Amino acid sequence: MTSSIALYIHFPFCLSICPYCDFDRQATGFDRIDVYLRTVEREMARYAEAGEQVHSIFFGGGTPSLMTPAQVYDLLDAAHTIFDVLPDAEITLECNPGDADLQKLRGFKAAGANRLSFGIQSLDDAFLKMLGRRHTSAEARQAATWARQAGFPFNLDFMFGLPDQSLEHWQQTLDEAVGLDPHHLSCYLLTLDERVPMGRDVARGRLVLPDDDLLAGMYAATRSRLAAAGYEQYEISNWARPGHASRHNLTYWRDGAWIGVGAGAASAYDGRRWKNTPVLERYIASVEADGQALRVEDERPDRLTQMIDHVTLGLRLREGVSLDGFAARFGDNLTEVIGETGAWLTSQAFLENGGGRLRVAAEHQLITNEILVRLEEPIAAYVRRETSASQIAPR
Ligand code: SF4
Repeated sequence: MTSSIALYIHFPFCLSICPYCDFDRQATGFDRIDVYLRTVEREMARYAEAGEQVHSIFFGGGTPSLMTPAQVYDLLDAAHTIFDVLPDAEITLECNPGDADLQKLRGFKAAGANRLSFGIQSLDDAFLKMLGRRHTSAEARQAATWARQAGFPFNLDFMFGLPDQSLEHWQQTLDEAVGLDPHHLSCYLLTLDERVPMGRDVARGRLVLPDDDLLAGMYAATRSRLAAAGYEQYEISNWARPGHASRHNLTYWRDGAWIGVGAGAASAYDGRRWKNTPVLERYIASVEADGQALRVEDERPDRLTQMIDHVTLGLRLREGVSLDGFAARFGDNLTEVIGETGAWLTSQAFLENGGGRLRVAAEHQLITNEILVRLEEPIAAYVRRETSASQIAPR
């Protein structure tokens, strides 16, 4: 064991389903919550012998704020028994505004949570209604006040690029978001799968999303407004006051190890990646049978996949990918791995290669995915050459 890991605990229950949501969640089975939580504890218990140090715990969903403080306490108690949870571990609970009043937030604090993340999405009641959110903008503002009164550092999640949203509307949202003085802000571009109701409405022309130029303007406005307010951007969609970057999410982007427990939870641990079944009753039955959740995906990524994932995740971060870290992990020089394509992207100022790190230039972050697509082929070619060289090497 060389370093600490992150622990993700999934709570899949929501009171209603938002029409843009493609997460693993359900608005049924509430009478199974107690059984589910005991099952999650049982799934966690199988890691007891590994003795892993845990630097962050994240309650995600679904809607974890539907849990009672006592239920959160019991899960954290189990986590502390099973893992070596570090004394300064970041323990985040996702909340929907309107689900938790000041007393309940104080209960979460007493249970051991030390950070909250609110799914605000918009501060405009018309957009909140379109997004199917159950809370109002007034409840969102109230939640931020209560979080502060309860003594939590907190994140606010927002979405931009909403149907028919103007640049001025998003700028006003940013001003209001900054006015709530959160410690951390996540601003995501709305992306819609065609299988969700809002995605179908866009496909049929009933809803119209902003065009690429407008989205670029919204993203540029986000970067400049939040920088002016003293927030440091550390990832494509994430900004934080100094010292408040999410330790848990950094684990994902720095390609660290994490264990996810619960229905639909994903893990990257011990050289494997897997995803538990999202079907509640199958999850419960499988863990009850032998302590391990049924997996719907399970693989040991090959070298090429590991390299591409490492670069893909790292280039989301403003700090980029460490060349030394890459060499230590793969035994290769990243600049050589990305070859002429990487050199061209650097010469054209899409990438920056300096100070021992490779990163996407700040003004090109919105096209990070296109840059990554360009890098995949040289990485694949490098691994192919490496593989064939090892096959013809003298024994
Ligand atoms: S509350 Fe969150 S998890 Fe639940 S349906 Fe809405 S977006 Fe999805």
